[in-house]
Amino acid sequence: MFDNLSDRLGGILDKLTKRGALSESDVSEALREVRRALIEADVALPIVRSFTDKVKHRAVGAEVVKSIKPGQMVVKIVHDQLVEMLGEESHPIDLNAPAPVCIMMVGLQGAGKTTATGKIARRLTQRDKRKVLMASLDTRRPAAQEQLKVLGEQNEIDTLPIIEGQQPVDIAKRALNAAKLGGYDVVMLDTAGRGHIDEPLMVEMEQIKAVSNPHEVLLVADALTGQDAVNLAKSFDERCSITGIMLTRMDGDGRGGAALSMRAVTGKPIKLIGTGEKSDALEDFHPKRIADRILG
Ligand code: GDP
Repeated sequence: MFDNLSDRLGGILDKLTKRGALSESDVSEALREVRRALIEADVALPIVRSFTDKVKHRAVGAEVVKSIKPGQMVVKIVHDQLVEMLGEESHPIDLNAPAPVCIMMVGLQGAGKTTATGKIARRLTQRDKRKVLMASLDTRRPAAQEQLKVLGEQNEIDTLPIIEGQQPVDIAKRALNAAKLGGYDVVMLDTAGRGHIDEPLMVEMEQIKAVSNPHEVLLVADALTGQDAVNLAKSFDERCSITGIMLTRMDGDGRGGAALSMRAVTGKPIKLIGTGEKSDALEDFHPKRIADRILG
């Protein structure tokens, strides 16, 4: 594995004998290591650049106090900047709207949308005592609708009955109607993904959004999304104005740099993280923890 940033910066900066303010050249050398650490953590390049510029601005001229080593000081500046860019501490799902509150899940195929739908529905049902209806609008992947139904059965959450051959927009309308008639608090729409972003996918998302008027549009993305994170988050945000992001597979080896990329490019909060395949593997997003992880 890589040395953590603290060790690397200590090696560079702690040899400075002259105390006082950090000079531009001290900081530039340190920033090369910061840049390398962010790239290893999968942060997208344009975001790495804007991030290091901000750190430079904070660090150059900063007084090195005797009680703290210069390396540690820069690590703290980097950490604080990361936390600031990752956003505030907690962003719950917003249910503050007339029932049934619609939550639309979007993202690429395999990102973990269906699993995430089940996890969120389970939390809203068990912890928040809401009555939730889930509907799969994924008519492209065989068995996708069945997968959600099974998740519903396992977690005692209702799913919209499947009508073979019905198109996504019509399923969305039916789900909303059923949620109204059935007195549900929340209706969750699990949309179809594609292997990559394309125009038909985006048109489908816009159409679904237009008929369902969701209060939350959550982009579900794999934490291992590297350089693609910027394009992915930007595209979904531009076309269906997402309200938040859920990062999945945070139980893996990835450092989660996609969190910084997606937050920076959209300004939308990371609301939740997925930490496993099971329905209870759902956690709130904590910027400090992710900052530690990104820095290694
Ligand atoms: P979808 O195509 O976006 O609906 O993706 P799925 O929900 O079907 O998930 C694809 C695969 O990723 C499945 O095998 C899930 O069990 C797995 N998966 C989803 N979320 C997580 C997670 O947070 N951690 C891990 N390890 N696996 C996950």
